[in-house]
Amino acid sequence: PGVGGLLTRAATTWPDHPAVRETGTGRGLSYRELEAVVQAQAGRLADAGVEPGDRVALRLPTSVDFVVAFFGALRAGAIVVPLSPQAPGPELEKLLEHSGAKVVITRDADEELPDGVTGLTPESDPDGAVESVDAGRAGEDIAVVSYTSGTTGPPRGVMLSHRALLANLAQISGVEGALEHDDRVLITIPLFHVYGLGPGLLHAVEVGATAVLSERFEAQRTLDDCAEHGVTTITGVPTMYTEFAALGTDELRAKLTTVRRMTSGAAPLHPKVLGAIREATGLDVFEGYGLTECAPVVTSTLVTGYPKPGSVGRPLPGIELRLVDSDGTDQAVPLDPDDVDDVFEAEGETGLVSIRGANLFSGYWPDGGHGPDADGWFRTGDVGYLDVDGDLHLVDRANDLIIVNGFNVFPHEVEEVIGQLPEVTEAAVVGVVDERSGEAVKAFVVPTAGASLSEQQVVDHCAAHLAGYKVPHAVEFAESLPHSATGKLRRVRLR
Ligand code: ATP
Repeated sequence: PGVGGLLTRAATTWPDHPAVRETGTGRGLSYRELEAVVQAQAGRLADAGVEPGDRVALRLPTSVDFVVAFFGALRAGAIVVPLSPQAPGPELEKLLEHSGAKVVITRDADEELPDGVTGLTPESDPDGAVESVDAGRAGEDIAVVSYTSGTTGPPRGVMLSHRALLANLAQISGVEGALEHDDRVLITIPLFHVYGLGPGLLHAVEVGATAVLSERFEAQRTLDDCAEHGVTTITGVPTMYTEFAALGTDELRAKLTTVRRMTSGAAPLHPKVLGAIREATGLDVFEGYGLTECAPVVTSTLVTGYPKPGSVGRPLPGIELRLVDSDGTDQAVPLDPDDVDDVFEAEGETGLVSIRGANLFSGYWPDGGHGPDADGWFRTGDVGYLDVDGDLHLVDRANDLIIVNGFNVFPHEVEEVIGQLPEVTEAAVVGVVDERSGEAVKAFVVPTAGASLSEQQVVDHCAAHLAGYKVPHAVEFAESLPHSATGKLRRVRLR
């Protein structure tokens, strides 16, 4: 059985166990109830003419509606195309056309849709079941076309097979501290992104746990939700933990009493935030690294069982990782052999992170091009190095490299140094055109509430910790920085 089989099994094994619960509305379904509504949704899709292999797009927030639509579409044999409910009309239209969606499930019945696309509102009535449908797709059949965040360029449609998604779940489950049946996992990150979908929702259904779903993250309210719903694990992103930490020790201590485990992924977690959460709650935030193309988790500090600030841990069991130069030939070739004073390269040599495993994607939609190479390796756009323990550190995305007078500057290193200042909530660094040096480093800094901080203080702090060419030439203060729905910094916008 494919990904849809996870729900069938949960409904048989734990029929009365709560499967999903919404924090805002209190709406909740047991696995038996979820199964019935999913069956009705599948029937309605079949009635709308959906056949195996057709694309069904979802334009839904993190909610019970999403879960029902997702499993309903799979059961009808469709390829699910999860899209952001916030995407503006023209972007939606582009992705519907690109994916060739036949149906889109949306709460907005009046949404303007391209010709040939049928809009359906989400099913909530278990008695609407038409005939039992089960298209029984599995293995190499495509389950999901997931569009990347578009952090670095136009979003790409990543084809994820049933095999890839199930393989990643097995890899995640092979690690100590994975979800357990009696867990209640908080998911406020988008389910339309594969981070919320895989290690969040599907992992919960796999073990018959309860997914506590929240449409929007709002630090104080989300913290209250954790207490109210007895949340035991949080699948989150760095911006969430940064905002949690800002609420203060007492509040965190009071509201996170039932939580046993927190994970962070999708973007770098500042060691300062990890420390603050630990100090307040005694709990560690375990950082992981993933990509849509890897369905999605690649490494996690859960593999060793201890968090290591600045590291994303080791590959999950069953995943191979190596570092290659930009031609993809030799292993661990340094990007800049002369750059010996660079702290990021002190312990290991940097290279492009390459991945091999059963969790890899099947190329990009629609023709399956640019998938893993003939030997099964997929070269990411991320630069990293392994430390003496074999733990991975991400340096940055290769595309974000800034070249100052011929010297390499990876913005993340500068951002991390600026973030060490207690007066700083977040920093972003980009390259700007400079007549003399080609490019120069510019920093955008969000000061913590009430703090007073000058441009000179930022520059002085950088000068004390970084080589001269890495020190920002310009510092601009900002109230906030642009992020994607999963908390990724949008450096393109800042540029
Ligand atoms: P696009 O490719 O469209 O620009 P994207 O690369 O952001 O979008 P995703 O699959 O959503 O697509 O994100 C994967 C990327 O997120 C990784 O390649 C990596 O750069 C970044 N990332 C994921 N986890 C972490 C982490 N723990 N620390 C730093 N970066 C991370």
